[in-house]
Amino acid sequence: MLDVTPIPAFSDNYIWCLTRGGETDAVVVDPGDANAVLAALSERGLQLAGVIITHHHFDHTGGLDGLLAHRQVPVWGPVNPAITQISERLVGGDHVEILGIDWSIIEVPGHTLDHIAFFAEIEGQPPCLLCGDTLFAGGCGRVFEGDPAMMLDSLRKLAALPADTQVFCAHEYTMANLAFAAAVEPDNAALQARIAHDQGLRDANRPTVPSTLSLELDTNPFLRCEQASVISRIREENRAQGDDPVSVFAAVRGWKDNF
Ligand SMILES: [Zn+2]
Repeated sequence: MLDVTPIPAFSDNYIWCLTRGGETDAVVVDPGDANAVLAALSERGLQLAGVIITHHHFDHTGGLDGLLAHRQVPVWGPVNPAITQISERLVGGDHVEILGIDWSIIEVPGHTLDHIAFFAEIEGQPPCLLCGDTLFAGGCGRVFEGDPAMMLDSLRKLAALPADTQVFCAHEYTMANLAFAAAVEPDNAALQARIAHDQGLRDANRPTVPSTLSLELDTNPFLRCEQASVISRIREENRAQGDDPVSVFAAVRGWKDNF
């Protein structure tokens, strides 16, 4: 059994904390803030056993020096020499054992060029995807370093994973993402149900993450660029250069950037 629980950081980051049922070794994902991690581990009686990094942004890596000063542990992450603290550099197709679980590495450039995702199938529970700032609950990361075709290709790799995969992204952006999704697909009933459900979670001060890949496929406009409803809405808005998926994706992303 793998337990994945959030350590909130900054205003809307989640640093995911991975443990095996009942054990005290903890691996944290994208620690932007060392103090938030150390306080949470101490409170939960856990000890740091490793760090997973998805990409170079400082709100995902800024806690590395503080954590490594506390305890020398392996740091798994992308082949980006700028992140000097990484001890095990991983590329797409690699497999790495973390907490006794086999994780496969998926290259997902677009938000940044170095972005990777970690995916594991675990006996007795749904598969787990650690996707940083690539796929969000109800949205996707901004395309800072790549281009729309690259980002869409990365999202398609994630969309092809098993439908029951739990999607652990790095930010609580869900309600803003879903408000935008509703502008793109006002008649999507699954989306309206999700907005009501997730608003209830936020009202109770609970995370909306993880979501599931099947829910994303039904409600996330960035995974729905081949749906007639999205294509026609983008056409109505006069936003797309064409009806092909890359043009539609670029139009949806551009619309969201200014929403
Ligand atoms: Zn980022």
